[in-house]
Amino acid sequence: MRIGDNGNAAPSSTGLGGSYRLGVGAMAVALRSIGCRTNQEEAAALRAEFLSLGYSVVDDIEKADVVVVNTCSVTLHAESKTRRFIRSLSSAAPAAKILVTGCFAQQHGVLIQKYPGVEWVVGNADKHRIPSIIAASGSGAYLSDIDTGSPVFWSDNVTDPTASGRTRFSLKIQEGCDFRCAYCVVPMLRGPSRSAPKGRLVDTFKKAVDKGYKEIVLTGTHIGQYSQFIGGDCISAVELTDDAAVAEFNVNQCGRSQSGEQKGGLEALLTEFLKVGGDYRIRLSSVDPRDLTDTLMAMVGENPRVCDHLHVSVQSMCAEVLSRMDRPYGDLDLLTERLRGFREKYPAAGLGADFVVGHPGESDAMFEATLRGVGAVGFTYGHVFRYSKRLGTKSAKMPGQIAESVKKRRSAALLELLRKSRENFLSLLFACPLYIIVESEGPVVGVSGNYIRVEVPGVMATRNTWMRVVVTGERRGGYCVAERLPRSGLKAGCIPQKTETVYE
Ligand code: SF4
Repeated sequence: MRIGDNGNAAPSSTGLGGSYRLGVGAMAVALRSIGCRTNQEEAAALRAEFLSLGYSVVDDIEKADVVVVNTCSVTLHAESKTRRFIRSLSSAAPAAKILVTGCFAQQHGVLIQKYPGVEWVVGNADKHRIPSIIAASGSGAYLSDIDTGSPVFWSDNVTDPTASGRTRFSLKIQEGCDFRCAYCVVPMLRGPSRSAPKGRLVDTFKKAVDKGYKEIVLTGTHIGQYSQFIGGDCISAVELTDDAAVAEFNVNQCGRSQSGEQKGGLEALLTEFLKVGGDYRIRLSSVDPRDLTDTLMAMVGENPRVCDHLHVSVQSMCAEVLSRMDRPYGDLDLLTERLRGFREKYPAAGLGADFVVGHPGESDAMFEATLRGVGAVGFTYGHVFRYSKRLGTKSAKMPGQIAESVKKRRSAALLELLRKSRENFLSLLFACPLYIIVESEGPVVGVSGNYIRVEVPGVMATRNTWMRVVVTGERRGGYCVAERLPRSGLKAGCIPQKTETVYE
């Protein structure tokens, strides 16, 4: 079992700085993760790793000898939340040694070392060494620089659904990002894009299917930059210092290697996974508009084993704002048309997006342009973030910083538009069978392929099994209420949907 490998030599042949096993139950570790799905995936990988090395993994931090916190630094809010949590640990678990890792550690490593109870600070490039660092027990900071040769922290250790308590297996395929959007700190904290080796990913995918996971989620910092080119062949904006060179890179190098190879690494990987037999579906996490090929959209819209759910990190639908963000999508009208076309061609499919409101320089007219674009596409849901000034980014130095009150107003307006768009989408589905994976049994809840959270009252079911349902229009909290359907047969008036043979 090796952890942290992108084909580059990990610190030692076992990938963990020497294999060592503790006497079983010798040390209890608690894991906490703040932030994105990739952070949660990494915490799950660490958990599987600790268990395989003889540690006991506990949920209750008061029972832990060591508390590992995987942190986030994407917004000011995330940072203050992380800071507060680390500080609370020394009183909540006074006897425990604290290890802080993740983006907040990568950004503020030296500062965190002074926090009470913090024994170790481990950066993103050293995450794969965490078990060996703890075993070596000496305190300290491990904050290596991240470059194209740094290992991708991922794991081919698969804990079965019963032991993991999860019905979805998150498979991290890539880490880092080669772009450098003006407002974003991620490339500085996660480094350039590096991809996990395809062969080993396929083996891990097979393992997850064989262990009974019915849904595999492909995660990473920027999965659209997954590339078959292991190491050296791709260059990254992170190495460029001149803003003009960065802007030129963002335009010309979108998804290309130095040899000019077309993008498509993600589609190629997906095609490999789809050769695996079994009872599963694949869900993509977020995809950047610049990586959205027609092939990928068709795979999502038509392939019965790929969830009909696309989440696109759009951020804005105004060309001026996108230009200030250093996110050149080329022809924005064309992108809007392609997304609207996806909705039209696959009306039952979920199409969600991320948006940032209040980026420096965003005028009321520019925001109105975003509202018009969002309205034109008809997204089925959306996440709205208020711009957060991040030190070290180009946007932080820009004139025209927007007042919080204006950001709040714009966020509310966009959320309201997205809410109406979702209502419209849901109203189309009243007669359409959906497939959920039962996540909990009392009451039965689950998520459909097209990303609708449903609750099915009054029925019994076994966790991690398929259920065919139809939404009724009623809501309970964040869930759509649904009824269980017999195993097959379409109801009258159902809008065109993917064939649903696979899940029978
Ligand atoms: S694409 Fe832009 S916003 Fe996304 S991680 Fe890369 S630099 Fe950040």
